[in-house]
Amino acid sequence: MEASLINHSDNAASILIVGYNIPLMNALRRSILNNVHTLAIEDVTMYKNSSTMYDEVLASRLGLLPLRSIQYGGKGKKEFKFKLEQVGPKTVYAYDLVPEDPDIKPVYGDTILLTLKEGEKIELEAKATFGTGAEHAKFAPAHVFYHAYPSIETTKSEIKGASKIASLCPVNILDGENNKLSVKKGHLQECILCMACQDYAGEDVIKISADKNKLVFEIESWGQLTVKDIFEEAFDNLEEEIKETSKVV
Ligand code: SF4
Repeated sequence: MEASLINHSDNAASILIVGYNIPLMNALRRSILNNVHTLAIEDVTMYKNSSTMYDEVLASRLGLLPLRSIQYGGKGKKEFKFKLEQVGPKTVYAYDLVPEDPDIKPVYGDTILLTLKEGEKIELEAKATFGTGAEHAKFAPAHVFYHAYPSIETTKSEIKGASKIASLCPVNILDGENNKLSVKKGHLQECILCMACQDYAGEDVIKISADKNKLVFEIESWGQLTVKDIFEEAFDNLEEEIKETSKVV
């Protein structure tokens, strides 16, 4: 099995896997979703809430905020506190939470928490702790999935209406100039296998299928950790689990 990066940034990566092994892909996906530690708000102490939003609803919204986290569940401190004190009229955003540690704060500060009318008040203290996706989905670090790698064959050298076929592609990866149909260089993996081109032109003109030897593994971090941090902890956990399993088999 070989892996190579198609594209990547701190928060997302597309990885081409050649000679894939489905059980291993599933194990890696589950290790990322279930075993990687991130921070999320777990306890909320409400001192004052005269808004129209129930305490429980606001606490649930706070719990779902992705927070900048520390790899491997931190190395020491396990709890991080936040304070929120606001008076209406005001729209209260995630960035209004005052963190005890300035490095631990909401990833998306412009998330709206609630709206306060004239004279309404909110005063609370929130405590974030580390957890994993196996405990609650709010701790899951990323959206992670894999999909087929496309194979596109054009069988005729000259194709009438090639430009019309190319115009049907929703991701615009086909070239249809001068009655010739081809895939734009470097864009093959963007095909979403929708079959629109083949359904219109017929299999004898353009044949779309899934490559049996390749797939694309996709990961998009929710922002608590970088993709690199997520993979490191997920692979370490997977290795540990394989060792444990091999002891009993
Ligand atoms: S299958 Fe869909 S996405 Fe792929 S080339 Fe054809 S029209 Fe474009």
